[in-house]
Amino acid sequence: MAAVKACNILITGANRGLGLETVKQLLKDSSQKQHIFATCRDPDGPKSEALRELAKKHPNVITIIRLDADDPDSIKESAKKVGSLLGNSGLNLLVNNAAKMGSGNIQTSSVEDMKNTFNTNVIGPLLIIREYFPYLQAAAKASGTPGMSCNKAAVINISSVGGSMTRMPPMYIQFPELPYCISKAGFNMLTVLAAEELKADEILCMALHPGWVKTEMGGEKAPLESKESVEGMLRVIGSLTEKQHGGFLDYTGETIPW
Ligand code: NDP
Repeated sequence: MAAVKACNILITGANRGLGLETVKQLLKDSSQKQHIFATCRDPDGPKSEALRELAKKHPNVITIIRLDADDPDSIKESAKKVGSLLGNSGLNLLVNNAAKMGSGNIQTSSVEDMKNTFNTNVIGPLLIIREYFPYLQAAAKASGTPGMSCNKAAVINISSVGGSMTRMPPMYIQFPELPYCISKAGFNMLTVLAAEELKADEILCMALHPGWVKTEMGGEKAPLESKESVEGMLRVIGSLTEKQHGGFLDYTGETIPW
């Protein structure tokens, strides 16, 4: 298995679901140099208890940082704080994992839900990439190695087949999640355009679909457990090179059509 050896890693929505499982699995394989900035929107709230417990057990590896993807000020504040802790080595791996579901079809989806979903799933990650860009750039420069990898500097956007114009339509009647799907299609475009902007600095950027997973978002009927999905995603992330820059893969490494 290609291991994720990135030194400084930041994950959004790290308090539960796939984000929390990613932190847990990174810990199993963590080297002395590794540091995980586990971000969530309410670090002191009841939904972050499991993350707080984990951070208590691994105080030298995990730092919990407040980051609400809906709040540009909190994104800025988080970047300031992380920047002050990073030193010269920069941020190697940024995982844009946080997202919200928005359900309904053309007849039933609300304007409010549409706006909120777009805000969290597209504008939030865009501002996060913007604010953390200097630290990614610093990591790419500090690495001194050619090419691209997640151990050098990378943005991994946790997207969904829901945002695939090829894969989603046949599933839409069974899964009427119009606001979510539109937001993930926007997120996919953000990935492709960010990849163009980040290329000059050799910062890898791609979209990753975790599979249909049993989490609060995925629901009980999902066939995959978080453990299997995250094991697969970390394997894929660890093996990425410039060949996958600007691409869209799933947790098994299969290419997803846009
Ligand atoms: P969950 O609903 O279990 O967890 C979502 C996470 O996002 C929570 O940590 C939640 O925090 C956080 N979050 C939501 N809104 C915000 C916000 N405004 N700011 C910061 N954090 C926020 O989802 P999953 O773990 O299943 O999903 C993780 C990623 O995987 C998402 O991008 C999702 O779209 C994608 N995905 C998941 C699939 C699945 O089957 N599970 C399938 C395809 C894609 P809080 O506790 O504060 O609400």
